[in-house]
Order: sequence, then C-alpha cells, then structure tokens
Amino acid sequence: MRKPIIAGNWKMNQNPEQTREFVNAVKNDLPDTNDVEAVIAAPALDLATLIDAAKDSVLIPAAQDASVHDKGAYTGENSPKVLAEMGTQYVIIGHSERRSYHHETNEEVNEKAKALFRNKLLPIICVGETLEQREAGETEDLVATQVEAALAGLTADQVKTLVIAYEPIWAIGTGKTASADQAQEVCAHIRQTVAKLYDQTTADAVRIQYGGSMKPANVKELMAQPDIDGGLVGGASLKADSFLELVHYNN
Ligand code: 13P
Repeated sequence: MRKPIIAGNWKMNQNPEQTREFVNAVKNDLPDTNDVEAVIAAPALDLATLIDAAKDSVLIPAAQDASVHDKGAYTGENSPKVLAEMGTQYVIIGHSERRSYHHETNEEVNEKAKALFRNKLLPIICVGETLEQREAGETEDLVATQVEAALAGLTADQVKTLVIAYEPIWAIGTGKTASADQAQEVCAHIRQTVAKLYDQTTADAVRIQYGGSMKPANVKELMAQPDIDGGLVGGASLKADSFLELVHYNN
C-alpha cells in the first residue's frame, strides 16, 4: 500500500514568524504519519525556523529546489548537502514555475534528482502540461517525456521512494482544478510510464500527487482516485486550518 502524502508548497510566501505560528497551530493536530505524511515545502529563508518549530511533531520539512552541486562558487544556490544536514526530507524539483521562470530543463531536473539521492534526500518531481499542450492532445506524450528524462539513470529502488507530482499548469493558482477523471487519467499514465521504464513493482510503489488548485472542497474526490496518492498544494496550504482539513481529508 502506498502511503498518502499531502505536501504544502508555500512558494515565495510566509516569513519565519508566520512559519513558526503556522507550525504551532498545526503540530498537535496532524494525522499519524503511518496514515498520511504531512509535508510543508517552505521557502529557503524559512526552512531553519520550520525545522526547529516542527522538531517534536510529525510535520515533515521540505525545500522547494536545490542545487545540483553540494558546495562551491554557485551564488544564490541552495546546497542539497546542507539541506540534508539541516533535517530536510523532501525537495521539490522541476516545478513549472522554475521550468518557466528559471528555464530549468528536463536534464537539470534529472541532475537535481541525482544530487538529492546522493545526499539522502527524496525528490518530489513535478511534471505537467500547459493549456495549449492539453488542447493540442500532447499531454500524455509530454508528461511521459518529462518523467523519463527526470528518472534517467536512477535505480528502481530509488524510484520506489520518490514522489511524482502531476501539476497541469492551467490549474495552478487559477482556481480551475482538473476534474478527478482528468487528474486520474494522467496519473495512471505516469504510473504506466514508470512500469514501462522499470517494472510493475516499481510503478506500484511510486507515489503520485496531483497539484493545481487542490483545496478542502475537492481533496476527497481527488484522493479517491486509484492512482492519486497525494496532493501538492499551493494557496490552500498557507492557512493552518485549511492545511489541517487537507491532511485529514479522510475524516
Ligand atoms: P495552487 O494549489 O495554488 O494551485 O498551486 C499548486 C502548485 O503549484 C503546488 O506546487
């Protein structure tokens, strides 16, 4: 059985003080980590506060990006080695905002995945199509290409532990959620892609999240889909009460 994983992606929101307030508000009401993993991917500037505030709780700290290098002359980058030393567990890579504003390529996403595994961090790899690509019927091929490129050179054992987030770009921050059927269709296709690249056991183990205007009102229906194992949530993860509703989608 795949363990559900609900991750808040705060993007460039919240400061350290708000981070501490948020953690204090949620930390005693989180689900058992054997039932649902509750993750917050904070901005790098808030990460130390998040990790400190969450240290006696089951809240899992994550970062939103990492360098492919462990150290050196890379001004402005965040070292995966230091992220791991600080106590980060997951790192989002290949988010569509980084692919579009920072021109991150599939090859870089792959390099980052390898850098994370080298440092015992787990990637949350984002893939997804634009509205134009969806309307042109390109979604499945595009997403399969993104998955194949991101996983190149990784072992089956590594793939079994990572997370793939399907985030249709047209549903991000727009209030327009993919229907449960649309989300399921692509998540199933991602799993088939992993089965083709590796084997069915690996595909059955990898966790796939949906992201794009997920909120308390639609989380239950999305999580009921057989190939959706979690959510990567932007706007609705910023408020403590809304995040708690999301991680308790099952109640
Ligand atoms: P929203 O939930 O705000 O649409 O953002 C989704 C997202 O990009 C999470 O990574």
